[in-house]
Amino acid sequence: MVGGSAFAAGGPTRIIFLGSPGAGKGTQAGRLSAERKLVRISTGDMLRQAIAEGTPLGQQAAPIMDRGKLVPDDLLIAMIRERVSREDCQNGYILDGFPRTLPQAHGLENIAGREADDRFFVFNVEVPHAELMRRLSGRRWCPKCQSTYHVDSNPPAKAGVCDRCSTKLVQREDDKESVVAKRLQEYEERTKPLIQYYMHHARFHSIDGFRPADVVFRELVGYLEGQR
Ligand code: ADP
Ligand code: ADP
Ligand code: ZN
Repeated sequence: MVGGSAFAAGGPTRIIFLGSPGAGKGTQAGRLSAERKLVRISTGDMLRQAIAEGTPLGQQAAPIMDRGKLVPDDLLIAMIRERVSREDCQNGYILDGFPRTLPQAHGLENIAGREADDRFFVFNVEVPHAELMRRLSGRRWCPKCQSTYHVDSNPPAKAGVCDRCSTKLVQREDDKESVVAKRLQEYEERTKPLIQYYMHHARFHSIDGFRPADVVFRELVGYLEGQR
């Protein structure tokens, strides 16, 4: 690898994943986090954790998430502000599921500075609609450790059971068909405009996500290392 690439150099690396529900953001962010020792911050996981713990945030978010709507910006911005201030984020972090609206993007700028710096990467993962539906309907999830599987593309070793913690896998309530339509609509109306927003401002890279996860991951790492 080239020694002087932005990714290899010291200092915090911040990475954002844009993409529709089901595009593979969590899958890629998880791999990157494991291989590069960068904290992955999944707002969906944090909210589901808050719901499981019955916190005030969880109680507020639950009915909104059940309907496939986005949780209010001020709650998400406060959550991220607190999370990235922690010690484990000093070397940088991967945001999986944030920002999802323009006000959230502005909020992130206030928290972390302008996105013009050369270690701020934005990946936009693109996947055709039919494949998104296939992925979301087949996604299974571990309510204990939050690992994600797919019944066909990424099945656990033993059907219906988490490889990591042996917990019984479930389908997320919001992955059911009636809610998925609303989530995709929210994405189109509120998150997709972020592509335009970041396209001109940052190290922005659109990735064809309709390929095996390994292939997508290699492209992503190649981009980070400046080896495209
Ligand atoms: P997906 O895997 O489909 O991208 P997530 O697990 O990231 O879904 O998010 C699940 C739900 O959590 C969203 O539908 C939304 O209700 C809520 N949520 C997650 N991140 C955000 C955010 N940045 N802003 C508002 N709501 C969010
Ligand atoms: P997101 O976080 O964008 O909602 P996930 O990473 O949870 O997406 O992926 C959605 C579903 O698709 C999961 O069941 C996952 O196992 C599966 N999946 C992820 N990436 C791929 C891929 N490249 N090819 C096939 N299936 C994938
Ligand atoms: Zn598990």
